[in-house]
Amino acid sequence: MPIITFGTTTIPYAIEERPRRQHPAIQIDATRQVTVLIPQGFDPNQVEPLLHRKARWLLKHLTTPQQQYTAPAKDFVSGEGFLLRGHPLRLKVQRNDAIEPNVTLEGRKLLVTSPLIRVAQQPILVREILTQWYMQQALELFPERINHYAPMVGASPTRFKIAEYKSRWGFCREDGLIALNWRIIQAPLSVIDYVIVHELTHRRYPHHRQTFWDAVRVILPDFEVRKQWLRDHGAELGW
Ligand SMILES: [Zn+2]
Repeated sequence: MPIITFGTTTIPYAIEERPRRQHPAIQIDATRQVTVLIPQGFDPNQVEPLLHRKARWLLKHLTTPQQQYTAPAKDFVSGEGFLLRGHPLRLKVQRNDAIEPNVTLEGRKLLVTSPLIRVAQQPILVREILTQWYMQQALELFPERINHYAPMVGASPTRFKIAEYKSRWGFCREDGLIALNWRIIQAPLSVIDYVIVHELTHRRYPHHRQTFWDAVRVILPDFEVRKQWLRDHGAELGW
């Protein structure tokens, strides 16, 4: 594994080729492994200069307290807190002999009715039930927000999907596909809108250069506050 040294800090990193990418990107995962994703044909000799240009960013992210990057350990038992569109919810798990699991929202109470199974398997099942429910919530809201912002951005996705991603909130592919992480449905609407405007804007600017951020700012002048929310709370959405 190659390493790069900034002052007294040594950082090992991996290089992975991603043929679909247009530009290289640096990824830091939950275990703080640094991976440089490079487009096909990208000169590997350019990776080190790239890392040097991003030294400040890298060091900042690698030296922030660990817990910020660790997914919260949830037990999926009654009493635990969850979020939906930024609103705090309290989980209640009810086991009964129903065959189909069910999720209902009663005020702030997130009621999960789950079939009786071995207690040890309960958290896995409840997580699965909740994930499906959150995905459904995302499916109901995200297309509406995309339709709301697309005319303002002046671009629409050719295709849209919701999936689970470990380390990104969404992405926009060269062919116009916009994918959004269902987890973002847990964030406040202002933050969901930011992620949607961000990805829609990539339809016009497939990079993160100044012109891209200027275009985002035209639609969401306070986008930096929304972006900061993700930095501060993003890990809480990662169960
Ligand atoms: Zn982006």
